[in-house]
Amino acid sequence: MKKVCIVGCGDGGIMLANRLIKNKEFEITLIDSQTMHYFQPWQLHMAFEGKKEKSIEKRKLLPSKAKLIIKKAKEVDLDNRHIKLEDDTKLQYDFVVIDTGSRGDYDKIPGHKALHDRFGDFHSGSEEASKLWNNVKAFKGGNVIIGPTYPIYKCPPSPVEAVLMFEEYANNKRIREKTNITFITPFPRPYPAEPMNEIVEPIMKSRKIEIATFYDVEEIDIKNQTIKSIEGDALKYDLAALVPPHAGSNIVKDYCDDDGFVKTNKETLLIGDYDDAYCIGDATNIQTSKSGVTVHLESKVVAQRLNGEDAKFNGRTHCPLEVGYSKATFVIGSYTEPVVKLKPSRFNYFMKMNMKYFAWQTLKGKMDWFIDSYFDTTNPHKLNSKINNPKAQN
Ligand SMILES: Cc1cc2nc3c(=O)[nH]c(=O)nc-3n(C[C@H](O)[C@H](O)[C@H](O)COP(=O)(O)OP(=O)(O)OC[C@H]3O[C@@H](n4cnc5c(N)ncnc54)[C@H](O)[C@@H]3O)c2cc1C
Repeated sequence: MKKVCIVGCGDGGIMLANRLIKNKEFEITLIDSQTMHYFQPWQLHMAFEGKKEKSIEKRKLLPSKAKLIIKKAKEVDLDNRHIKLEDDTKLQYDFVVIDTGSRGDYDKIPGHKALHDRFGDFHSGSEEASKLWNNVKAFKGGNVIIGPTYPIYKCPPSPVEAVLMFEEYANNKRIREKTNITFITPFPRPYPAEPMNEIVEPIMKSRKIEIATFYDVEEIDIKNQTIKSIEGDALKYDLAALVPPHAGSNIVKDYCDDDGFVKTNKETLLIGDYDDAYCIGDATNIQTSKSGVTVHLESKVVAQRLNGEDAKFNGRTHCPLEVGYSKATFVIGSYTEPVVKLKPSRFNYFMKMNMKYFAWQTLKGKMDWFIDSYFDTTNPHKLNSKINNPKAQN
């Protein structure tokens, strides 16, 4: 038997365990500091629509033969093939896969922790999302600021979704005319990928959302309710929900970057020159979208590789982007294909919202038959050719 240890039992670890269990040669152990699993996309709906949390025990999503250890991992030593846990016990492995995700670092920007404590947010957990909803409900008008504070964060569409969902809320509650909404971003445009920005920016402008680009937050002045930028600008807020800079778990000895993300090969998903150590999902330093879809596809690649195939990840993304008023688009691209300029539609919104019902089945690998054919139909090369040469398709 070969010992496969998966550090982090998140979306990626769960999907990988369910894929690997079919191989009788593997003994699978997962390590996570938490017992519960949360459907993170739902935090947006909790924060701006008052929806209830969606969560489940991790154990219920795993095959019965996989072992789950509830402990924090302190260090992964790739040379000596062991994982050190919080109580200093060591686990030896034949193969290790890191899936420790990413987390908001509220200490990077002075004042951010206090802002987060005051308002909650839509990015760090259910409690915080419910807190933000209570603040949203109590809000009667004034200045609202929403946006990312740093270029690295999970779910790239989420801040844009948040500002558009809040605008819809304010409009429905008839407080829109008394509310100034500003979207701040460190990027040169509201959505970093240009083709998607050509969809998003006109929508924001048509809904009279102010846009502050190149806004690098230096400090949040809680006393004066002001968000200050490095460039010397200052924006007043009455309500603010900022996406924090994200960091990795920093547990892989000698193989983490300055933000704690694991240095990972973008195609093979191997760490450094090791042939027995992989990293997937938000935990990698790969410059692609940190999303559930990415880790879904990466878990598939790692399962194939552990089963002896020469599989490679092609950088495929497929992130839902809700624009409010029951419409959504998807950010679809890959390492070689630019993001598709896909118009928002009710059908895409329907697809996005239905993920809630299939989330646990997807993690168990039971929806692969549908997802594989859906991803094939929405292949970015096919979609880009159709959009750029509409006549060629007729
Ligand atoms: C508001 C919001 C909306 C989103 N919307 C979408 C969407 O619509 N579509 C989409 O595809 N993605 C979306 N995402 C992103 C998606 O949820 C994440 O990218 C995905 O969950 C990443 O999976 P993962 O396996 O890499 O990490 P996670 O699922 O976060 O799992 C990491 C696990 O590692 C554990 N861990 C961390 N450190 C340690 C340690 N030292 N020891 C032991 N265990 C540890 C954690 O407890 C956790 O269980 C959204 C995210 C947010 C916040």
